[in-house]
Amino acid sequence: MAEVLYRKYRPMTFKEVVGQKPIKLTLQNEIISHQVAHAYLFVGPRGTGKTTLARLFARSLNCLNRTEKESEPCNKCSVCQQITSGRSLDVIEIDAASNTGVDNVRENIIASSQVPPFNSKGYKVFVIDEVHMLSKSAFNALLKTLEEPPKKIVFILATTEIHKVPETIISRCQRFDFKKIPQADIVKRLTEIIEWEKVTVPEHILTEIARRSEGCLRDAKSLLGQVISLSQGKVTDELASLVLPTSNWHEVDNLVEALRVHNVATALNQINKLVNEGVDLHNFTLDLIDYLRQIMLYQSIGPSFNLDFPENLIASIKKHAQDFPLADLSRLLNIILDKLTIKETLIDQLPLELACVEFLLTEKSEINQIANITEPAKSEFKVKNIITSSDDIAKKLQLNWKKILEETKPFNHSLSAILQTSHPVSTNNNIIVIGVEFDFHLQQMDKPNVKSHLAKVLSEVLGQGVTVNIQVDENYISNHQIFKGKNDKEVGEILDTFGGEVV
Ligand SMILES: [Zn+2]
Repeated sequence: MAEVLYRKYRPMTFKEVVGQKPIKLTLQNEIISHQVAHAYLFVGPRGTGKTTLARLFARSLNCLNRTEKESEPCNKCSVCQQITSGRSLDVIEIDAASNTGVDNVRENIIASSQVPPFNSKGYKVFVIDEVHMLSKSAFNALLKTLEEPPKKIVFILATTEIHKVPETIISRCQRFDFKKIPQADIVKRLTEIIEWEKVTVPEHILTEIARRSEGCLRDAKSLLGQVISLSQGKVTDELASLVLPTSNWHEVDNLVEALRVHNVATALNQINKLVNEGVDLHNFTLDLIDYLRQIMLYQSIGPSFNLDFPENLIASIKKHAQDFPLADLSRLLNIILDKLTIKETLIDQLPLELACVEFLLTEKSEINQIANITEPAKSEFKVKNIITSSDDIAKKLQLNWKKILEETKPFNHSLSAILQTSHPVSTNNNIIVIGVEFDFHLQQMDKPNVKSHLAKVLSEVLGQGVTVNIQVDENYISNHQIFKGKNDKEVGEILDTFGGEVV
């Protein structure tokens, strides 16, 4: 049934082909305008319509009923029917992945291409599937033919691995890159098929089939066929679960939650519970990756990002997107990807997406580091340094504190008043940190114009350029007493020494 469904609903016209719109349009234009190339290269993942379009193109070129301005084959004339059933002598399909394919290229193609098509108005079309599997000598033979192509011959070379095709061959072909088929397009096609088959399949099962097929329509049709063949006209979740690998989204969500809150015990228990229940861990891991990726993308892109999930999961993903730090998400995805042994089935674009996120994260952390230089972190906030220090700056500040208060008065009375209850707590190169008692003092002082005025006064007093930072001093009471006491003592000592007044 599965295989039957796949063949039965193979598109017979360009209109029916799902996806690959630019390729379809170009081919159709070439048919109508008689601008057919000698060689085409169809590149792309399996199950994306390469062979289907190659056959369709061959039918259109040879159809007896097709009119000049039409690009679709009639699919009814004898030639169309021969091609469809694989009996045409003018359309030769070779699978290079099989051993005979290699020999065929060398012997059959070269000889056969010299014979004009039986259909005098049509073309002889060679479709070589998995062309990258050809041997070096077969490629050489093919290249010779491509260099001097006989009239009315068209080569269509299809491959999933373009890097294995020699550059000399590629450069002689018109190349088309086939894309994976979007999930929504696959669901649409599956919906059409179940209508023709007169069976009922819930939409969430169709979505799950499309997800599992990863852009390969052939796989999607095959899975649908298997699901339908088990049912008596009505597909239930239970029947579908016999064919489709079960998704444990609830368990995935639980694990993500445990990881988000850094609860290792819950995470490990969860994994072992899954193993005991016989859950396929490989599939589970792929689901986990997909889920984390959706959270990361939703967080980075925002509501315009279209979540490819059933409704009930979308709410959970949105919640995680709000709470899961982006840095943790990208780190977690990287760690999981590193531990994974099979990487082929992964989402193609994920490594690139992660690279982008990480790039932005490093940028952010660098900005934070720069910010830390101008605003010393609490750990660098060595209160005792200035209070107990007897270095030059500390001495000057202690001696001149009253003068500093006086000089700020004309600028702002309340600033001077706040300064009276404050004290310098530390120096870091040319930054003087002033400690205040209360948050509202901080708010009043931590303004660019206030800080720049204060810096100007301090620079004059100290005889060197300084900048100022304001912080609430967590040890305010003791520090302030030490500063004041020491200040009085030092000033006293200096007064004794000089026998005069400090201005
Ligand atoms: Zn026809």
